[in-house]
Amino acid sequence: MTPPPARGNNLDTVRQHNLSTVLGMVHRAGAASRSELTRSTGLNRSTIAALVGELVELGLVNESEPDANNRVGRPSPVVTASGRVCAIAINPEIDAVTVGVVGLDGTVHHRVRYPTESVPTVADAVAIGRSIIDGMRPDLDDRYRVVGIGAAIPGLVRVSDGVVRLAPHLDWRDEPFAELLAAATGLPVDAGNDANLGANAERLFGAGRGYADLVYLNGGASGIGAGVIVDGKPLTGRSGYAGELGHTLVNSTGIRCHCGAIGCLETEVSQSALLRVLDLPGADPDELDRALAGASADERVLAEVERQLGHLAVAVRNAANVFNPELIVLGGFLGALIAVAPGRLEMLVTEHGLGATAESLVIARAELGSRLLMIGAAELAFGSLLADPARIPFP
Ligand SMILES: [Zn+2]
Repeated sequence: MTPPPARGNNLDTVRQHNLSTVLGMVHRAGAASRSELTRSTGLNRSTIAALVGELVELGLVNESEPDANNRVGRPSPVVTASGRVCAIAINPEIDAVTVGVVGLDGTVHHRVRYPTESVPTVADAVAIGRSIIDGMRPDLDDRYRVVGIGAAIPGLVRVSDGVVRLAPHLDWRDEPFAELLAAATGLPVDAGNDANLGANAERLFGAGRGYADLVYLNGGASGIGAGVIVDGKPLTGRSGYAGELGHTLVNSTGIRCHCGAIGCLETEVSQSALLRVLDLPGADPDELDRALAGASADERVLAEVERQLGHLAVAVRNAANVFNPELIVLGGFLGALIAVAPGRLEMLVTEHGLGATAESLVIARAELGSRLLMIGAAELAFGSLLADPARIPFP
């Protein structure tokens, strides 16, 4: 048995904690002045200066003088996360494998969507991921420092080892995806559920910024995923499967779901049913927005929108009652659904009274759009760097 790594002394632990706090703040805010860092950490100015200096030396942040013209008083240097430090994000879906390069400053540098003719197997997804990453290598090696890969999986993922327990639409069962992709690329790989990662991304960088308790519901081509953030932390449950709101009952006389139950949210509220009334073969959220806006006088479309909003309202009411969030964020086609009937979902949610749980509840559309899962998956890969910035993170 290998002995555990030396824990270091107390000073090291404090330093690691402080470096992690400062880097995390700069990462989430995009930019922060030294005086802001001093104020929000409660550390003194010379400590902040030393910590920022160390992060600059590690190549994790940049520091620049602010524009003196816009400032009153002595300007404080501005610290920004380095966009050169990056993570690779991968998202296998039923019709494509998407790979992106995301900077520590939240910039999505590249995004390659590789369409597949059939639902990719695990071997397909690993091979496609490897070949896209190989194609990017010259550029990555020249311009970026890659910390690792984060994978957003449309299914249940055991976060401890990145084993996909069940991705029903991909038909993956107990697949060691993270391990296989790590072996193929030589990079460390973390994997998580797409909706949980999306929820976290919206909380850190999108509509959920500043909220500590939120529920995120995302409508995709293959169903509805959800992520729950409680007190600023993702609710994972024992093994990382918590928050499967897509399979909660919204219609007791509904249709049979692939999960075996009747009237699940994702069978009653679906993109394919919307596309059917719009006579469209397929659409991304932007195209769906336009098609729905263009069909606002079509009775069939309006009836389907109203039907789906009614079922969505049941799920939103249940989520509000169970989790008492401040905010419910709707992404993917669910965002298009609420945009076409402003205020309607809120009305349906509260029409039978929701009492105290609805007080100050906000329902908002997701903001990160097509960047969402790239940013969410990258955040997973940045996890160990953000926790311990001085550890040599680069393989
Ligand atoms: Zn179901």
